[in-house]
Amino acid sequence: MLDRKFILQNADLVAKNSARRGVDVDVAAICTLETERLEALQQSQEFNRLANEVSKQIPKAADNDARQALIAEGRELRAKKEAAAAQQDELEAKILALQTILPNLTHEAVPDGGEEDANELGFGKTPKPTMDFKALDHLELGEKHDMFDFEGGARVAGSGFYFLRNAAVRLDLALQQFAISFLSDRGFTPVATPDVALTSVLQGTGFNPRGPETQIYSIENTELNLVATAEITLGGMLSGQVLASEEMPLKLCGLSHCFRTEAGAAGRASRGLYRVHQFTKVEMFAFALPDQSDALHEEMRGLECELFDALEVPYRVVDTAAGDLGGPAYRKYDLEAWMPGRGDAGEWGEVTSTSNCTDYQARRLDVRYKTPGQKGTQYAHTLNGTAVATGRAMIAVLENHQRADGSINVPKILRPWVGKDVLEPIA
Ligand code: AMP
Repeated sequence: MLDRKFILQNADLVAKNSARRGVDVDVAAICTLETERLEALQQSQEFNRLANEVSKQIPKAADNDARQALIAEGRELRAKKEAAAAQQDELEAKILALQTILPNLTHEAVPDGGEEDANELGFGKTPKPTMDFKALDHLELGEKHDMFDFEGGARVAGSGFYFLRNAAVRLDLALQQFAISFLSDRGFTPVATPDVALTSVLQGTGFNPRGPETQIYSIENTELNLVATAEITLGGMLSGQVLASEEMPLKLCGLSHCFRTEAGAAGRASRGLYRVHQFTKVEMFAFALPDQSDALHEEMRGLECELFDALEVPYRVVDTAAGDLGGPAYRKYDLEAWMPGRGDAGEWGEVTSTSNCTDYQARRLDVRYKTPGQKGTQYAHTLNGTAVATGRAMIAVLENHQRADGSINVPKILRPWVGKDVLEPIA
């Protein structure tokens, strides 16, 4: 959420920024409502002051009639105060509803446009594989290795759910183990998080749990929701807290399941594991000082590159365009891995995403920091980045490391956890 004073003082800039990011919010209405709210607040304070003055006069009243008149006057002033306070609350709710739709400000290097307009920044160390045979997609490989059961998943939980079987289970766990040990060695504290979170925590991190096009599964008759990412739980973990500036940046890597309704995703390339309702993810998350967040964002992007280089998967890095940033991100980099079995002759597919959310999430979550020797507290900056989302990482690993006979080379880095160098077809 943007700072209200900033919105009022920079209404034009905020309106232009929202339009560029494809968000339609009436910024002028926020300003008008805020002026009315401040008037209502002032009135309520003034009626309160007058009512208190009248109360003080009551014991000094000359006679009973005068006392009754003062009591009546006090009652009337308090009623007026209550009415002004109620109006203030009503206006505050209206402003907040608009204020929370406003997206974050945008880094100056972010390109204009939508999904197709991202800037290509570079490529990973592993070249695209040369295959003198027709590449299979992960579902065809899955059949040969008896790795996925989508029919069983659909019978249990509906389409878009699945069972992992045999080597897929080992690979899924190996990817998690690898990401967690890699990040632990680089100063990130591993945290296994709850898979559910309160509606207020989702809203604080910029997710909209109960709207018509929501991506979130909510649990009926409770304030709980299934999390779409550990970004939600890790952000919420320190809500309302004041951090010490010397301990920042605070770097965490969270392990959670992720649940997404994928509303509105019908028709988008989504075979097999690519777009499912549940997957497992190791997520980087950090609370940083404002002057640390740009560098930390670059660090997270670098770590994602190292992880996918280690998996020997070809990828490209893109700087996401303004219209595709979502609400909280100030800047977002994606890694898109080469998936040889995707489409007619292979396609890039997003495997990671890292965002610098500056103080946008911390303002709503109320996460602040205090600097020794300085008065007051400031909002922290928050950053997040996928280390591995196991489903899509598995697609990239299986499809890039397949061999003509249907066997699959296990990337060297995963071998200790998978327990094999090569996966041989079962059928
Ligand atoms: P996001 O939190 O939306 O930035 O997504 C982070 C990563 O999670 C993406 O880069 C994908 O690798 C993965 N992902 C997102 N949505 C899905 C989904 N519906 N099914 C499988 N993987 C997903």
